[in-house]
Amino acid sequence: MKKFTADYVFTVEDKKPIPNGLVVTDDDGRILSISNYEEGSEEGIEHHSGAIVPGFINAHCHLELSHLKGKIEEKKGLPSFIKSVIGFRNSTSDADMISAMKKADKLMEKNGIVGVGDISNSTLSAEVKASSSLRYHTFIEMVGMDPYIADELIEKADAMKTAFENSGSASITVHAAYTLSKDLLKSLRKYCKDHKNLISIHNQENDDENALYRYKTGSFVELYNDLGINIDHFVPMSKNTLQALVPLFPQNQNILLVHNTFTSLKDVYMLKRFDYGFYWCFCPGANVYIEDTLPHFDFFIKSDSPATLGTDSLASNKNLSILDEMKIVKGNSPEIPFETILEWATLNGAKFFGWERELGSIKKGKKPGLNLITNFKDGNITNKSEVVKLI
Ligand SMILES: [Zn+2]
Repeated sequence: MKKFTADYVFTVEDKKPIPNGLVVTDDDGRILSISNYEEGSEEGIEHHSGAIVPGFINAHCHLELSHLKGKIEEKKGLPSFIKSVIGFRNSTSDADMISAMKKADKLMEKNGIVGVGDISNSTLSAEVKASSSLRYHTFIEMVGMDPYIADELIEKADAMKTAFENSGSASITVHAAYTLSKDLLKSLRKYCKDHKNLISIHNQENDDENALYRYKTGSFVELYNDLGINIDHFVPMSKNTLQALVPLFPQNQNILLVHNTFTSLKDVYMLKRFDYGFYWCFCPGANVYIEDTLPHFDFFIKSDSPATLGTDSLASNKNLSILDEMKIVKGNSPEIPFETILEWATLNGAKFFGWERELGSIKKGKKPGLNLITNFKDGNITNKSEVVKLI
């Protein structure tokens, strides 16, 4: 049995923290009880200064890009970033890539992350995930604007799922509005009729995504030219990407919209009209790294769709730390309460992936992991806050 107290315990089940809270777990970390600590009432208690919170859920990562840490120049914009990632392809051996992924996995564990949604374009990360102490969901990503290869992409991605059988759960998904065809989304919707299939899409990470869909202009058109990709079959829709694509998504699955840096308030309100399983995912560290821009977090407070947080990959971030992401949100939008950002970092992600029976909140019977946040002042994190994994 283990017993922990701290200045505050945030269960996330309750909106308000428990001052001088006491959390008791079994040796495995399963929660036995949560109460107020009364001095002298218990023995064998670990006393901490700060706030105890549940283990974090990292809703968006690319383990496969871990070997690109520090290799891509910052603040050059998304099309340039994509070109750099493609340029580095085949420059590293599988063994070195796997070794970088293992380090990234350990880094996430140290940073108090207990569950990860990970984008994969190959099966290389499967062995890292199979031997990890973290819980993984793998999104097998399909890339292709050519409408004639839509069904072929679905078949290939579906066949890749077997490689991840011992690595947690897996589903097939699209990459982004600028690397798919309408036919691919239609085929995916058909596939989702008889598969439980979580969906993730990089959404409005760069404003030229919207320019492409509205007028077939902007830096993505130049990118296709540079890469020799033919987009003659692409017809602009006079709408920005989210408004053009939302009706094409399946209604019966959870769908993670990742980044949302250039999502407008109109887009946020538009989503309310669709009774689909949409969740937002913010990766502010990567947005600063690539675009030097952040989403309008205040827009999303008005949304009916829950928000989550992700680190993105080490190609576009200096750390894989959900606490670091929370610090950026707080620094940018101090009016958003800590309790709200904590829910993004924990329970909402757990619900998206269907892990909430075990993860996401401190509740009797769950095994969510426990993190201590240090330098916690006036009910909030500070720039000096660090995460210490208690269990
Ligand atoms: Zn990403």
